[in-house]
Amino acid sequence: MPKTIARQKYGVYRLFVVGMASNWCGLAHSSKYNYSAMLFCYAALPYYCAAGRNFANNKTKGIMAHTLPALPYAYEALEPHIDAQTMQIHHSKHHQAYVDNLNKALAGTDGENKTLEELMSNISAYGPAVRNNGGGHYNHSLFWSVLGGNGSTPTGKLADAINETFGSLDALKEKMNTAGATRFGSGWAWLTVTDGKLTVSSTPNQDNPIMDIAEVKGTPILGIDVWEHAYYLKYQNRRPEYLGAIWNVINWDAVAQRYEAAL
Ligand code: MN
Repeated sequence: MPKTIARQKYGVYRLFVVGMASNWCGLAHSSKYNYSAMLFCYAALPYYCAAGRNFANNKTKGIMAHTLPALPYAYEALEPHIDAQTMQIHHSKHHQAYVDNLNKALAGTDGENKTLEELMSNISAYGPAVRNNGGGHYNHSLFWSVLGGNGSTPTGKLADAINETFGSLDALKEKMNTAGATRFGSGWAWLTVTDGKLTVSSTPNQDNPIMDIAEVKGTPILGIDVWEHAYYLKYQNRRPEYLGAIWNVINWDAVAQRYEAAL
């Protein structure tokens, strides 16, 4: 942020200097219209400054720092399935650290001008700090948005696609749970739209299906975090138990919206 402000000021001062220089040239070279030229230039000065400010703002739009999205519900909203303390640490510490470290990794590089999605889709061009922290920021932003439901089930086109592809919602859950439980170490289980079809997959660490290096590429519409930090306080080493419980708090309306947007 300090860099953004510095650039804005620089833009304003530069155009201010240009304005003053042209003002001086007008006085020096016009013999007949000196007085009106001077008045014109002084009258135009605020517009120069405003133009400078707009110019600088537009120029710096692309390098706004990434920020932690607010949770769309309270930390305790997913109790008893996911406890408030886990949610608080997960969101305000883990996700915040991904955001901060992503901004640090991007500072002063071309990546500063890219959206998160642009970074992900060309992630092979970046180092591990952008891959891990950018992936962490993308994945958790998606994760919070598909939680917060209270026992709802899929409806509409999404329900039809789940039944058609997997046979039933329970069969999808089982496939997702297997993908999450068998991911060695840390990672994610995903429900993804790939060429219009639903697919279940998993990724290691903070990778995701929109990364150009992903084994199964597509648009993720549901992601389940299987890092220990997502469940250890309540479930300790019992990852399958956490995976069984999380289905109680999936926000299927949010997943359905993502599904329809991905088609
Ligand atoms: Mn996590």
